Amino acid sequence: MKKLLVLVIALFFIYPAFAQDTRAVCIKINELNTAVLNGTIKRAEAAKQFKTLIQIVRGNHPMLKGDVWVFPLQGYQTNAIGGTNGNGYSDKGYNYLDGNKHTAHPAHDIFITDKNQDDMDDRTDKPVNVLAVDDGIVIACNNEWAPTCTMRGGKFIWIYHHQLDILSYYAHNRTIFVKPGDIVKQGQKIAEVGRTGLNAYKKRSPTHLHFSAFKLTHDLPVPYNPYLQLKQSKKQ
Ligand SMILES: [Zn+2]
Repeated sequence: MKKLLVLVIALFFIYPAFAQDTRAVCIKINELNTAVLNGTIKRAEAAKQFKTLIQIVRGNHPMLKGDVWVFPLQGYQTNAIGGTNGNGYSDKGYNYLDGNKHTAHPAHDIFITDKNQDDMDDRTDKPVNVLAVDDGIVIACNNEWAPTCTMRGGKFIWIYHHQLDILSYYAHNRTIFVKPGDIVKQGQKIAEVGRTGLNAYKKRSPTHLHFSAFKLTHDLPVPYNPYLQLKQSKKQ
């Protein structure tokens, strides 16, 4: 009993330090991701740093289950995914280290009903919530974007999911509600759908969430098609 008490007390003191450490690593990943997007870091150096940092997050991360996903747009279903049977996805030639200059479209665009392009759902006149597909930890995000900015992702979020050792990515948000190092639960509201990003802002683009999933191959993000996971996900 006494031993248990000592253990509980020790954890009480150790855990916050531990969590803080993970947040500091996530802040570093976020800075690295910005450098990759801006092309201000050499690819080899970026790869080396990303691998080192993600290994720490993987090692540090507490709890978290891998589960059937929650669909990332509240109030929407599989039929909101662009293309036919998910054929909007194409990862040929994509490389994470290309940053903002990357090619291909390793993502699914998930559209909301917003004819007048004011970010509001035409059915409710309210913003549409973007939900975390699974438990995870925010490793990078950006809540700053202006129409003069050439960044394509706009206001985006990257989440690391421990159990499956994958990443999810949510782009073009109107606003985001998380920061690097935040632990998020499955189905948690992390953002609202928007039109931020170089192309997403343009009139020709219907309002949507750009959603991607990445495996870690040699500890670097490599996209895979998450269509089936989206299709089978729980809708909220
Ligand atoms: Zn897209």
